[in-house]
Amino acid sequence: MLIYIVEDEEDIRELESYALEKNGFEVQCFENSQEFYRAIHERIPSLILLDLMLPGDDGLTILKKLRDEPVFARIPVIIISAKSTEVDRIRGLDLGADDYMCKPFGVMEMVSRVRARLRNIQELPDKQLTFREITVYDSTRTVTADGKTIDLTFKEFELLKLLIQNPRIVFRRDEILNAIWGHSSTGRTLDVHIRTLRSKLGEYGKYIMTVRGVGYKIDKGE
Ligand code: CA
Repeated sequence: MLIYIVEDEEDIRELESYALEKNGFEVQCFENSQEFYRAIHERIPSLILLDLMLPGDDGLTILKKLRDEPVFARIPVIIISAKSTEVDRIRGLDLGADDYMCKPFGVMEMVSRVRARLRNIQELPDKQLTFREITVYDSTRTVTADGKTIDLTFKEFELLKLLIQNPRIVFRRDEILNAIWGHSSTGRTLDVHIRTLRSKLGEYGKYIMTVRGVGYKIDKGE
């Protein structure tokens, strides 16, 4: 389970990440919103610990942006802030935070609140899409091939999901580009993503088939 920490104070960042790593979580820390935005477009975490007073976009702005974006809207967010009035808490929770802790906080309590949030998530039924050995879990954005978890980037996931939602349907290259990248990208980007997707899927990469002169489809790979 991957946890993102957005916190500009180094001491607190270290305190949080040390405690979470010791409890078996994978952790990535960010000092500001820019670094965080870049990372979240590559890899979606299971949960975010969010400070409020930050350089650049503050925590509430970050939270609002996440909740406005369907792909990120369901990631659990726990605010950890020095702002401790009831009004602050209510504002954070109203904007869609799942929990709110005030600094200074107990580290063990923080870990147990993280666990509680993740437990809630796991109880949600996940929408699954399956093509032979490959399964895409939409709400947790995970992918398995023959039961083994495959680590995909944001766009690789979108690409696989598009194909697997429409098995044996041939997508033209420009259709895929429009669906996943908008107009801002070239055929070369698509080819690179197809290649990395195939290689990450290992022996099951053969299901991602090239239809010469047209585009791509997912099919039984003959
Ligand atoms: Ca701060």
